Amino acid sequence: MTFDYDLFVIGGGSGGVRAARVASGEYGAKVGLAEESRMGGTCVIRGCVPKKLMVFASGFPAMVEEAQAYGWKIKAGAFDWRAFRTHLEAELDRLEGAYRNTLKTAGVIVHDDRATVVDPHRVRLASGQEVTARHILVATGGRPFVPEFPGSDLAVTSNEMFHLDALPKRALVVGGGYIASEFACILNGLGVKVSQYYRGAQILRGFDDEARGHVANAMQAQGIAIHCGTDVMRLEKTATGIRAVATDGSEAEYDLVLYATGRRPNTEGLGLEGIGITLGRSGEIPVDRFSQTAVPSVFAVGDVTGRINLTPVAIREGHAFADTVFGGKPTAFDHKLVASAIFTQPEMGSVGLSEEAAREQEPIEVYSTAFRPMKTAFAGKPDRVLMKLIVSQATRKVLGCHIVAPEAGEMIQLAAIAIGMGATKEQFDATCAVHPTMAEELVTMRKPVRTA
Ligand code: NDP
Repeated sequence: MTFDYDLFVIGGGSGGVRAARVASGEYGAKVGLAEESRMGGTCVIRGCVPKKLMVFASGFPAMVEEAQAYGWKIKAGAFDWRAFRTHLEAELDRLEGAYRNTLKTAGVIVHDDRATVVDPHRVRLASGQEVTARHILVATGGRPFVPEFPGSDLAVTSNEMFHLDALPKRALVVGGGYIASEFACILNGLGVKVSQYYRGAQILRGFDDEARGHVANAMQAQGIAIHCGTDVMRLEKTATGIRAVATDGSEAEYDLVLYATGRRPNTEGLGLEGIGITLGRSGEIPVDRFSQTAVPSVFAVGDVTGRINLTPVAIREGHAFADTVFGGKPTAFDHKLVASAIFTQPEMGSVGLSEEAAREQEPIEVYSTAFRPMKTAFAGKPDRVLMKLIVSQATRKVLGCHIVAPEAGEMIQLAAIAIGMGATKEQFDATCAVHPTMAEELVTMRKPVRTA
């Protein structure tokens, strides 16, 4: 049987674009790709990239304060949100163009249209055109999820945060995950009065307890009012804003309510059930380690599979798919030991097991130190950073590393290499310190603070 394409990719985000580029550009497959929105997906258009630029923007007032302590006679002026937003939009246009160029250079045929799956080898575009493909890759990502409750339509999601007409004066952020905590810090840094409601006992569930406690304390010290064990019962429009009535009986008014209560895979109406793929509980596509679904010609990568929702993971899954199916090199991406950073202020970088997870697994030693780093201590700031290693008593391997510090994301990337190679605590110790840095503490912690 002949097909229009060797591969048809649905979704032009991180995973889909990588798979399409490698299959076409490196392996010579005939590839089509459909994207209903902007090329680049969540990461480039409404996620990691614009978020990180907002993180940078929000960090300047603190830098000005530090600069003053270092003798600079400067003052922070007002933040011009509109000017920043215009610049941000131009940057995203540039990046979207770069993504399109990459695909064009690789020979991928792009359809700016929504696509649905008709049968295991056939896709229908919203224009009505149908195309056939030997393989179909679903890489449609996810979207923010807002629970239903009275007034839930008054809340915005992270999608809207990059398009606000004006910055609010008072904001409520609901949720305790990556997105909620990052936006709470961004808004706070930009001068917004921020409250964060989280239904559980401590924000950033799943991360190392000591590290997330450290982040939460720092956020509170900077003025973010974190209310744990608190959820919104209803939102009401008032003449001057949005009133939030909370489960703890409190009521307060805000200009903006941001819901960051998780994301759901984009599988609705894609036609997957019709071809015999049973979706998971949250709508995710079940796949095996080669990202193959229950239908052999259909694969799925990235957030739509609900494995680890991170851009670099989607990219690696997309690349592994192309290597496997078109490169003759069966490759399964290993989801163990994926490092990540939360761009709160201060940042948190994490790889491997938390203390809590590790001690469930085996006897461990915990090395941990919290201290005032040189740069901000000189400026008279109380900020403390945290460096923590979890070590196996039996193998001496470092099982986890957790860093809360400025640039923790940069540091954890390097720690992840050593830990991925199976480095032992003694190998960390044998590494000479780089002085004076914060990260040198990772190779100078000699005595465990506890064993468990
Ligand atoms: P998360 O799953 O990280 O967090 C969702 C939060 O919302 C949790 O605190 C959860 O509480 C809470 N929640 C869920 N449902 C409800 C509800 N019905 N009512 C009240 N609270 C609720 O999702 P995010 O949206 O923050 O981020 C999605 C994914 O995107 C992340 O998992 C991450 O992989 C990725 N991401 C990564 C970033 C990075 O690498 N820096 C940045 C941003 C996103 P509970 O803990 O009790 O379940």
